[in-house]
Amino acid sequence: MSDLFDRPAAGSAKSAPLVGDDCEPTLFEFASPGRRAYSLRTTGIPEWTATELIPAEHLREDPLELTEVSERDLVGHFTRLAHRQYSVDLGAYPLGSCTMKYNPKTCDEAAGMRSFAGVHPETPAHAVQGWMQILVELEEALCTITGMAAATLQPAAGAAGELTGLLLMRAYHAANDDVRTRVIIPDSAHGTNPASVTLGGYEVTTVGSDDRGFVDVDQLRAALGTDVAGIMLTNPNTLGLFEEDIVEIAKMVHEVGGLLYYDGANLNPILGVVRPGDMGFDIVNMNLHKTFATPHGGGGPGAGPVAVSKRLVEFLPGPRPVRSNDRESTFELLFPPKSIGRVHSYYGNALVLLRAWTYIRLNGADGLRRIADMAVLNANWLREQLRGTYDFPYDRPVMHECVVSVSGLKRATGMRALDVAKRLLEFGFHSPTVYFPLIVDEALMIEPTETESPETVAAIARALIEIAHEALASASAGEALRSAQAPRSTPVRRVDEARAARKLVSTFDAR
Ligand SMILES: *Cc1c(COP(=O)(O)O)cnc(C)c1O
Repeated sequence: MSDLFDRPAAGSAKSAPLVGDDCEPTLFEFASPGRRAYSLRTTGIPEWTATELIPAEHLREDPLELTEVSERDLVGHFTRLAHRQYSVDLGAYPLGSCTMKYNPKTCDEAAGMRSFAGVHPETPAHAVQGWMQILVELEEALCTITGMAAATLQPAAGAAGELTGLLLMRAYHAANDDVRTRVIIPDSAHGTNPASVTLGGYEVTTVGSDDRGFVDVDQLRAALGTDVAGIMLTNPNTLGLFEEDIVEIAKMVHEVGGLLYYDGANLNPILGVVRPGDMGFDIVNMNLHKTFATPHGGGGPGAGPVAVSKRLVEFLPGPRPVRSNDRESTFELLFPPKSIGRVHSYYGNALVLLRAWTYIRLNGADGLRRIADMAVLNANWLREQLRGTYDFPYDRPVMHECVVSVSGLKRATGMRALDVAKRLLEFGFHSPTVYFPLIVDEALMIEPTETESPETVAAIARALIEIAHEALASASAGEALRSAQAPRSTPVRRVDEARAARKLVSTFDAR
């Protein structure tokens, strides 16, 4: 097949670089004409040439520009890249709000079983009753956990769940001939919330937080009116705090005819402890990829089921796998009467749903409760360790994450949240979320998660304290930590995040 792949040399082949060089060369840079990753020469498969197989008018005029590398260099290249990566399987990843916890491998094994993964999504429901049962049981478990009546499993992630929830809100009001234009969001909200509200066709009204870090109830009262379709809340909020006024907030919003939307991206702190349905919420999205054992980040598939209270069930996306009325153990697909339609093809990201089902069965009710206890214990223990070193703008017991401020250290030494986060990489930990929530100056939002051992949480605390001491030790030491050359031992130093996002270079010109 060599005539199909021959192309001009892409420059002289380089030797494979060592780990730790600042920039990993692209594959093109150690390509050499004629090199192949593998060949079928000895397998008995005849070597056809392209001209023998394809009519001349369909052949390319110029050879296809593929990089020519040996299998050895190819594997080395990708293995080196993998070694530069930090992941939840490697160590602690205390990235607040995003819940990057360790995911049990059993869940992946279930999702890899051919009897599940090998089913074509077009297979009629009567022939995939096992799959239907998994989906129905998952929906039932999620409704039990959240205290809701029914759920759709279709949305592909949290933000997709939010949009689905807002479309449900819209359908509900429209069915009552009730025109409403605004949705209220607290100023500590996750960035996807206002984006989803806008996509859902509503205007955002922002309410502030009070000095406890909770929704300012007086501001909320002033913002409410009969043009308010609902409110979107995260509870615990992004400060890691449980909204103590939630029952009163629910009452106020319901009194003007609005609905309550719960951003349940992070359910780990409340599993088996408290249910959004009991707090008065009407719509709840869940991020199975954060709470229920699907690895995420890097754009991998997620799932953001949306559970609703009774009055919204008829609007849910369809088709929904449900139990057949007559026999408990048979399942069928149902299109709810006033459905907003499909929000995903087939059943959603089914293998993510299977992982979540496995995770829930693996843990059981008592295990889920223990997850909540450990998530909250780890976050509060870490917070106590950091007292005296960092600032606590809202100093209350937290749920699964704590937000500390680097503003005191910045005043004393010039060291910013970003510098602390970069230095933490050199201690072998992923950085926490920085500069979020927006209402905290120089914020570090730290979520140790329930899967880290006390020893690991202690090591994170020691690292954060040592970093502050380094910055305070001398002007030159502090300067070194803040410089563009820090961190020194990571594969890359400071990258220009704005340029990387706005002027992304996704191609490599081999010529
Ligand atoms: C992660 C997160 C989201 C967004 O979820 P995606 O699955 O990334 O779309 C929304 N709200 C909160 C609070 C989150 O932590």
